[in-house]
Amino acid sequence: MKLKLLYLTLFLFSSFVVGFVSSSFSTAILAGIASTLALLGYHWYRYYNWTKRPLSTPDHRLGPFLSVAHRFSDSLWLSRRRTHSLLALSRRFRSIADNLPDAWVVLNEDLEIETVNRAAESLFGLTSADIRQPFLGLARHPSFRNLLVGNDEFRVIEVPSPIDEAIRLEAGLVDVQGGKIVVARDVTDLNRLLSMRQDFVANVSHELRTPLTVLIGYIESLLTEDMSLETVKQILDRLDTPAQRMKSLVDDLLTLTRLESSPELDPESIHPIDGGALIQSVIKEVSPLATDAHNILVDADEGLIVGGVSNEIHSALMNLLSNAIRYSPSGGTIQLTWQRSKGGARFEITDEGIGMAPEHISRITERFYRIDLAGSRAKGGTGLGLAIVKHVLRRHRSRLEVASVAGVGSTFSFTLPIEFNKVAP
Ligand code: ADP
Repeated sequence: MKLKLLYLTLFLFSSFVVGFVSSSFSTAILAGIASTLALLGYHWYRYYNWTKRPLSTPDHRLGPFLSVAHRFSDSLWLSRRRTHSLLALSRRFRSIADNLPDAWVVLNEDLEIETVNRAAESLFGLTSADIRQPFLGLARHPSFRNLLVGNDEFRVIEVPSPIDEAIRLEAGLVDVQGGKIVVARDVTDLNRLLSMRQDFVANVSHELRTPLTVLIGYIESLLTEDMSLETVKQILDRLDTPAQRMKSLVDDLLTLTRLESSPELDPESIHPIDGGALIQSVIKEVSPLATDAHNILVDADEGLIVGGVSNEIHSALMNLLSNAIRYSPSGGTIQLTWQRSKGGARFEITDEGIGMAPEHISRITERFYRIDLAGSRAKGGTGLGLAIVKHVLRRHRSRLEVASVAGVGSTFSFTLPIEFNKVAP
């Protein structure tokens, strides 16, 4: 309204002034039109300048173009806000994709790489320089071709990573509009775990089968043959060894499973342990084994007490002492020490036995690892003793140290940290 008034006033004023001066009606009208057009031109000029910076706020100097400018500016701000939120959304998706452990390679219809996430960089070795490159040119394993151009039976494949043969990838294909996505994950650890589990089951079955076969053989003879009571007694006597063997194996397996399933000690179960007394009780228990009259010496710091789970440490000492006896010749000296040491109490057991070559030392705490399988079995070993020791010590924040020389002897030692004393009541 104001604007119309301005234009009208200008028209009338200039017509009046020029009409007054020139006394000509037509000149007055022309002057009115000219001045009105000049004002319109000025407003157009302001509008034109504003369009160069359309995000600045339009003001009244745009005259009749103000409302057009407002509409233009509003739609511009709206699309700007939309672009911003779309960008934020795409950045968010990008960061989600980059933080996923699975690799994604997005391919177009020509199977060229469109984009990859960070995991694809580490699992496939792809970088932004590979964008627009044919995927099959970079992932050359024939299985990838089967995955991309084969039929449904190849929808999931297992392949070595193109950058490291040791890394195993499980890759699948997802069809999307305008292309495909190859999704892959690292299954190296999973495979290792599965094969360890399979090995474990195979080992347990194998270990149980031998005594079980012996038992079944004897039982069949008892059932099918006529025997004197004396012979029956003799056979029953012989059943004891394989039965005991199966029992120790199952006992050790149960102990190991229990220890493995709870890697941390429950503070409630920690009590003071008198190492000297524990050593004496272990020696007493193990004595039937030491029939070869080993010379067992003890050097214990009387009154040296640390916190721990007594029956677990007892079982660790029992395993170490029975090994020292088992793998030492008759008459050999076995030295046990329990002494204060930096950071705790140190237990050490040294024998003059068969010892072992360096390559075995790092492996003897593996389940069922034995240097001489038949020798260990003949001596009643289950192959699980040192695995049990390892787990007991891990729960006590300690670890087994082994020093050994083949044909000379071995020393097994560990330190129980004094920190447990604070927890022990
Ligand atoms: P096992 O029941 O066979 O003794 P362990 O787990 O206790 O099983 O020990 C694993 C292997 O480590 C043994 O089979 C043996 O070869 C070796 N070993 C353990 N202790 C000794 C030792 N004191 N001297 C020599 N070899 C040992």
